[in-house]
Amino acid sequence: MDQADVVIIGAGAIGVCTAHYISKSTRRIVVVERGEVCVGCSYGNAGMLVPSHCVPLAEPKAVSQGFRWMFSPESPFYIKPRLDRELISWLWRFLRAANPRQVQAAMPLIRDLSLESLRLFEDLAGSFDFGLRCNGAVYLCRTESGFESLVRESLHLSEVGIQIEILTPDEIQALQPDVRFDVVGGVRYPQDGHLDPARFVTGLASRLIDDGVDIRTQTEVLGFEFTDDARLSVVRTTKGDILASEVVLAGGAWSPSLTEYLDLHLPIQPAKGYSVTVKKPEKAPGLPLMLTEARVGVNPMADTLRFAGTLELAGLDLTINPRRVQAILDAFPRYLPDLDPEVLDLVEVWRGLRPCTPDGLPFLGRSLSHPNLTVAAGHAMIGISLAPATGRIAADVVLGESSGFDLSLMKVDRFT
Ligand SMILES: Cc1cc2nc3c(=O)[nH]c(=O)nc-3n(C[C@H](O)[C@H](O)[C@H](O)COP(=O)(O)OP(=O)(O)OC[C@H]3O[C@@H](n4cnc5c(N)ncnc54)[C@H](O)[C@@H]3O)c2cc1C
Repeated sequence: MDQADVVIIGAGAIGVCTAHYISKSTRRIVVVERGEVCVGCSYGNAGMLVPSHCVPLAEPKAVSQGFRWMFSPESPFYIKPRLDRELISWLWRFLRAANPRQVQAAMPLIRDLSLESLRLFEDLAGSFDFGLRCNGAVYLCRTESGFESLVRESLHLSEVGIQIEILTPDEIQALQPDVRFDVVGGVRYPQDGHLDPARFVTGLASRLIDDGVDIRTQTEVLGFEFTDDARLSVVRTTKGDILASEVVLAGGAWSPSLTEYLDLHLPIQPAKGYSVTVKKPEKAPGLPLMLTEARVGVNPMADTLRFAGTLELAGLDLTINPRRVQAILDAFPRYLPDLDPEVLDLVEVWRGLRPCTPDGLPFLGRSLSHPNLTVAAGHAMIGISLAPATGRIAADVVLGESSGFDLSLMKVDRFT
């Protein structure tokens, strides 16, 4: 039987970053991936690095706005109506977590993880190119009410040390003189950045393979065998069993399906989002943008421009709903009137499943019930932003070292 010091399940941003930081100390690492490297949510997302998103998804505003949007198929947020016990219990937990006390506790943690990730991204960019730019992001508003709400939120962020610059339409225009905006104002977050997410994950995976890490694609983890003290001794896969000393679960939105074999409950709901990537038009924004009211992110990459958004709780369903793609296409000309979706050169329409926890914080740390299992999953809308810090912390947990972070809010067993 094959043997490994560490088996990592999932070769998305989180699994690959975890393998990277563990590989600095131990060589016998096997990453097991059901599809190809970066086939999941890490592939076509907006690629924005967002300390500006340090308010967790579960917050009071998300509840009030969510109720208005949730049954409209064109809105930025939609719940497919169905009787699903897991979904109902997730929504109930979400409502309970969406309170100011929980938000205040979570914000400094997400801020610190984001800023640590940016530092690690800059280190990694010294060894390979993945289009990293740390020149801020601009959130744009078309309506006075949207702008007021954005300014309130940015002032809240500035209280926890996130840098903000409130901008008039003229100041926005001056940042990008070539591009015409139809906005009433915006906020620039100078600490934000952006990258090409697929280039980052596949580039890092190639480097790991060169360094001798065993990445097994087209190999699905089916279950585990256990020792008497509930340690995971064997990882069972479609291509044979692997004897494992340590196991890391980084399976994104699919992580809960593997916990049916474990004494662990990971309430992660898949939240589908879409991106539309086009060839970069002549007059394209050079900075990442957030079209605030439409909840659409815009990421200028090397020779493409990507628009990404919408959040749809519809289970593990990967079908593309054309109405939701159309909602993205309809949104951006309202802010960028010279960009006409009809004449843009389409490269790809993509969908992915964000792994969302009910309290907006990932699961990160060791399981109490299974002492050699570490979980790194549930990063929702900020999994690229948090990937290097998550990988470094997961590596420290596996190697028994201190990460310097208080992991108590991200406890793996908090809903078990
Ligand atoms: C539209 C959209 C826009 C987004 N924009 C941003 C953004 O701008 N910034 C940001 O930070 N985040 C963004 N995100 C969120 C981000 O993409 C995710 O949080 C992140 O990619 C999650 O990474 P992951 O490694 O946990 O999951 P994934 O990338 O999904 O990786 C999990 C992997 O595990 C594998 N797997 C699962 N089960 C098994 C099994 N049993 N055996 C073997 N392999 C298995 C899967 O095949 C998959 O490859 C966005 C998401 C969407 C949908």
